[in-house]
Amino acid sequence: MRDIYDYSYKEMEEYILEKGMRKFRAQQLFTWLYKKRVNGFDEMTDLAKDFRTMLEKDFTFSSLEVVNQQTAKDGTTKYLFKLADGHLIETVLMYNDYGKSVCVTSQVGCNMGCKFCASGLLKKKRNLTVSEMVSQVLFVQKQLDKSQDRVSNVVIMGIGEPFDNYDNTIQFMKTINSDHGLEVGARKITVSTCGIAPKIRQFADGDYQFNIAISLHAPNDDLRSKIMPINHAYPLKELLSSLDYYSSKSNRRITFEYILLKGLNDTQECANQLAEIVRNRNAYVNLIPYNSVDESGFSSTSDKESLKFYDMLMKLGVKATLRAKHGDEIEAACGQLRAQSERNL
Ligand code: SAH
Repeated sequence: MRDIYDYSYKEMEEYILEKGMRKFRAQQLFTWLYKKRVNGFDEMTDLAKDFRTMLEKDFTFSSLEVVNQQTAKDGTTKYLFKLADGHLIETVLMYNDYGKSVCVTSQVGCNMGCKFCASGLLKKKRNLTVSEMVSQVLFVQKQLDKSQDRVSNVVIMGIGEPFDNYDNTIQFMKTINSDHGLEVGARKITVSTCGIAPKIRQFADGDYQFNIAISLHAPNDDLRSKIMPINHAYPLKELLSSLDYYSSKSNRRITFEYILLKGLNDTQECANQLAEIVRNRNAYVNLIPYNSVDESGFSSTSDKESLKFYDMLMKLGVKATLRAKHGDEIEAACGQLRAQSERNL
């Protein structure tokens, strides 16, 4: 049995027509799901009795069980959810000057094996379903509803490689963007990938207005292969050619994420190489402070050195930003969502 939040509006219309009912019921149902944001079919009070009974019979109504929640001084809140099969996932709400953003998890565990990342410590157990991703955003939105606030941005940068769960990720993005869904602007939704080139091409073919971010982290194959095994499968040449294909189809600017690893990728030589990659593309670099992961053996570039690297890029004519840390004291900072909760509970 599928979950109600797995369905796109169109699929729901088709289901309803198949059942010999009139199409407007899809509209009615989606208003309850995404606008009034109820917690069960029984709360959909104006639905015809036979329609509600049918829905209850044919669909589950996913709800994430929140098992832990931590809030940092800056408001960043990390939620730990238990899925129906007992697996645990994390979702983060961040307060930015431009609005509230939610960082969504796309898989239970991750198989990409990036050496610096805590998420990869737990191998992939399974992909998240569309409804499990939608429910993360809905849950946070329901919290914000209490103060008439809204989720303005969504980033798929939690645990997992979204392009290793491509179809569900795209449908999730479409649902939260849809007028019938949560109406989060397409330009405010960002999917982040470690660089699965064929999926980047497929994404380009979708002609979406969503944003794409690439976890680059190293400007040459030698170093990148050392820290990101995906680079063996799709070395820089292939990755960059898939991005050029993307840019030939989309006017959206590409974000290159670049965590600063002390003495490893923060040298002048790396800045020069990075500039070669970024300068002639519709792209910019988001420099991310590295959050140390005990097990990894990498350390983060100091604030002073980070600024120096930023300056090197400026001098080379590269557009860059230095990302602020969010909620690091609760281990909700980028890349710190760790499957450790699985072990701790
Ligand atoms: N698999 C996707 C999305 C999840 S990771 C991807 O690779 O893009 C989200 C971002 O956090 C990636 O850029 C990832 O490389 C980065 N990251 C991982 N561990 C980190 C750490 N310890 N400190 C800072 N960023 C980290």
